[in-house]
Amino acid sequence: MRPWAISTSQSLPRCEVARSSHDIRAHRPAALLKSLTAGVAGRKHYCKGNKRHILLKGDRILVIKIERDSFHYCLACGLKFIATARKDLTALETDLQATQ
Ligand SMILES: [Zn+2]
Repeated sequence: MRPWAISTSQSLPRCEVARSSHDIRAHRPAALLKSLTAGVAGRKHYCKGNKRHILLKGDRILVIKIERDSFHYCLACGLKFIATARKDLTALETDLQATQ
């Protein structure tokens, strides 16, 4: 008997159980991305990232929902956030894979 073989086979099904029985808790790590959506400005207002960026009715906007608040960003700011997040995710992925 190899003890490490047992621990490997036990860790996989445990993950599956957590995913199906506690949906809300299991999905919590993905909540950050779920709070980001693409939207359309319903009226003229200002970008949350820069008050000089004007969002006109019908403009594509990035909507970030944090608890009960929602923040609107112009396309330029939204795309900048996505580019930054993509780099952060790549760095996170590298860190995670490097840590043993
Ligand atoms: Zn902006």
